[in-house]
Amino acid sequence: MVAHQVSASAWYVEGVSALGSAANQNFISNAGFVITPAGVVVIDALGSPALAERLTAEIRKITPLPVTHVIVTHYHADHIYGLQTFKALGARIIAHRAAKEYLNSETARLRMEVSRQEIAPWVNADTRLVEADEWIDGDTDLTIGGVQFRLKSVGPSHTPEDLVIYLPGEKVLFAGDLVFRNRIPFVGQADSRRWIAALDDLLAFDAKVVVPGHGPLSRDARQDLKLTRDYLAYLRTSMSKAAHNLDPFEAAYAATDWSQFEHLPLFRAANRMNAYNTYLLLEAEGR
Ligand SMILES: [Zn+2]
Repeated sequence: MVAHQVSASAWYVEGVSALGSAANQNFISNAGFVITPAGVVVIDALGSPALAERLTAEIRKITPLPVTHVIVTHYHADHIYGLQTFKALGARIIAHRAAKEYLNSETARLRMEVSRQEIAPWVNADTRLVEADEWIDGDTDLTIGGVQFRLKSVGPSHTPEDLVIYLPGEKVLFAGDLVFRNRIPFVGQADSRRWIAALDDLLAFDAKVVVPGHGPLSRDARQDLKLTRDYLAYLRTSMSKAAHNLDPFEAAYAATDWSQFEHLPLFRAANRMNAYNTYLLLEAEGR
C-alpha cells in the first residue's frame, strides 16, 4: 500500500483489480484522505481492519494529525470492513442514512459470514459492521479545519446510499463506486438508469482530478467516466429486448457481442451476474 498524492492536501491508496481474497487482504478498493489543519478526513475505510491499520500507518508517514472523520461513500464490504479501526481511533463516521436498511439486513449479515470464511484471517469473528455516528439525509457541506467538503447524495444508483465528496478548493472529486476504472464494474443491485444519470451530475463538478472507487485516478473525467457509463448503457441495451419480451436470459446473454469488454479484468468473474441483474432490473422497470 502506497499513498499517492492527488492535490495539495488530498491523497489516495489504490486497491488491486481482483476479487477479495486472503492473499490480497480484501485490498480491492480505494480509500482517500484529506489533511486539514484540524485533522485528517478519511474517505472509505477499506476492506478489513488490517488494511485500515495499514492506511493509518501511511497517513502517519505524512502527518502526525489525528484521523477525525471518516466519510463513507457506500456500505459495500470492501469499503467498510475497516471502519472499526477508525472508530477505535475516535474518528466520527459520516454516511448517508439510506445505508441503515442494508446494515440491518440479512444480506449484510450473510456477506460478513462469507467474508469471515473467504478472507480469513483478515476478516474474522472480531470484524463487525459499524454504524455511522452521523447519518445525513442529502447534500451536505462540511467545513473541517477550514477545508470545504461538499457531500453530494447521488443514490440510489450504485447503492441507495451513494455519496460523492468534492473538494472545491482543490477541484478533487472522490467518486466512490460510481466510477470504476481498468476493470468491469460491479453492478450488484444497482439502479443502472439512475447511475448513468448520476455520472452526468459528476461531470458538472468540472473536477480536475477524480478518484474512483476502484482503479487509478483520472485527470480527464469526461474520458475516464466513459468506461463505466458505456458499460452500463451496453448492459441495458443488450438485455432490454429479451427482458421486455420475457425471452430467456441465457439466450440473450449468449447472443450478445461482449468483445469490447471481455479483455477487462474481472470480466469472467462479474459480467454474467451484471447482465443477469440488469435483465431483472429491466424486467421490473417494464412492469
Ligand atoms: Zn467497491
